[in-house]
Amino acid sequence: MSVLPILTWPDPRLSQRCAPVAHASDLAEVIADLFETMYAAQGRGLAAPQVGILQQFFVMDCGWKEGEPTPKVCINPTILESSEEIATRPEACLSLPGITADIIRPTSIKLQSYDLDGQKQLWQLDGFEATCAQHEFDHLQGLVTLDRVDPADRPQLEARYSAAMA
Ligand code: ZN
Repeated sequence: MSVLPILTWPDPRLSQRCAPVAHASDLAEVIADLFETMYAAQGRGLAAPQVGILQQFFVMDCGWKEGEPTPKVCINPTILESSEEIATRPEACLSLPGITADIIRPTSIKLQSYDLDGQKQLWQLDGFEATCAQHEFDHLQGLVTLDRVDPADRPQLEARYSAAMA
């Protein structure tokens, strides 16, 4: 396993739509690398495009920092249902170090994805896991948190990011 370099915004690869995965079983090694990279960076989710792979998969583990690992592999994910209930939560991103952005999202989702064996999985995700999965799902569509904030707030957020990266 190896820790991969994480791309930072505005790398153009973070703004591209990713292609569906054709053979899930080919991803075993890179998924292991993705987990290792995420843990090394103290993250809770990491999507393939963040390491320059423009394919539709991500990993997440919202519990490991609290001592209860819940690693999830999501290949070719689809959001089947989103709750009507929404909430605003601050979101950090390993590709936007130094800032958090307040994003409004549904508080629960039903997510379909595939595992490394090509088996279909259905996830009912709530709370932080729902937020995390939607954030990672966005990466596969070429969207980062800056694309989700109120456009009026974006310039200020970008300025803070530039200052943090300087
Ligand atoms: Zn992110």
